[in-house]
Amino acid sequence: MNQFQYVRPTKQNAAIDARAKDANAQFIAGGTNLLDLMKRGVMTPQKLIDINKLPLDKIEKQSGSLRIGALALNSTVSEDKQVLAQHPLLAQALSAGASAQLRNMATVGGNMLQRTRCHYFYDTALPCNKREPGSGCGALEGINRMHAIFGFSDKCIAVHPSDMSVALVALDAAVLVSGPKGDRRLAFADLHRLPGDTPEKDTNLEPGELITAVEIPDSPFTKNVHYLKVRERASYAFALLSVAAAVSLDGNTIKDARLAMGGVAHKPWRLVEAEKSLIGKPATEATFRQAAEIAMQGAKAFKHNAYKLKMGPNAIVQALKNATAAS
Ligand code: SF4
Repeated sequence: MNQFQYVRPTKQNAAIDARAKDANAQFIAGGTNLLDLMKRGVMTPQKLIDINKLPLDKIEKQSGSLRIGALALNSTVSEDKQVLAQHPLLAQALSAGASAQLRNMATVGGNMLQRTRCHYFYDTALPCNKREPGSGCGALEGINRMHAIFGFSDKCIAVHPSDMSVALVALDAAVLVSGPKGDRRLAFADLHRLPGDTPEKDTNLEPGELITAVEIPDSPFTKNVHYLKVRERASYAFALLSVAAAVSLDGNTIKDARLAMGGVAHKPWRLVEAEKSLIGKPATEATFRQAAEIAMQGAKAFKHNAYKLKMGPNAIVQALKNATAAS
């Protein structure tokens, strides 16, 4: 690992100042992804700004929303009574992510900023436009069974690995950020970006901006929800594909619905048209199957990930079945 400086500010402004003054600095919290990247030489920050002393770990009810501090641990959030009661979809997604040990270290802010697990990105001997712009995309003609079926470009076909983010985009969350130019609020759907010609940029954050919290609006999705994660082994693994499903029912009629997929795109993939197709319909397999067909429109596979074209609609149907059966 390269040598680096280490600072641990106790004030938010000091952390942002330190980052603004040094383009080669990185914030670090749980470090569950960044330290791996540094050990492999994929990221080589010259300064780490440890933000763990900042008071950003509260989970607080606000008027009309629940605010979760960026430094709240994944394990804490997944077991929090307010989260379990108001946003069980988020609790399920967090519990599906990583191992218990990692959830005890990883923070909410770090979870959403974790980087792709594309093998070519992690191997510095191989071409990767995300790690080294202009070097090529090894996965495009290489081993691409974990890769995207939506929203990719000819520069990058990687997927975003976070489970938590799939639930947050389905729940219409917002991200609060603070940076050299002040504070701002981003819709969660606008935090991550598609690769286009600049796959080295994972998010729409401005340089030096710090995520301080996520806010989830109150919603009727407190009961009939399901986070379905399909992975290669029953213990911890990244998703081949996942579905966050939430419905609000009036008897057997769907009043409102949310759907999003993970493991299919460079960002958590919200399925708005499929959601619309569910509203006002009976909660039956035929309804779910029609929504799944709409959801998969425009999907395109590469040499090794065509299985996702079949797995996707089946996972959507199963997630909706499980959600409508939940109590
Ligand atoms: Fe790199 Fe993206 Fe290609 Fe993977 S898919 S090798 S991350 S450019």
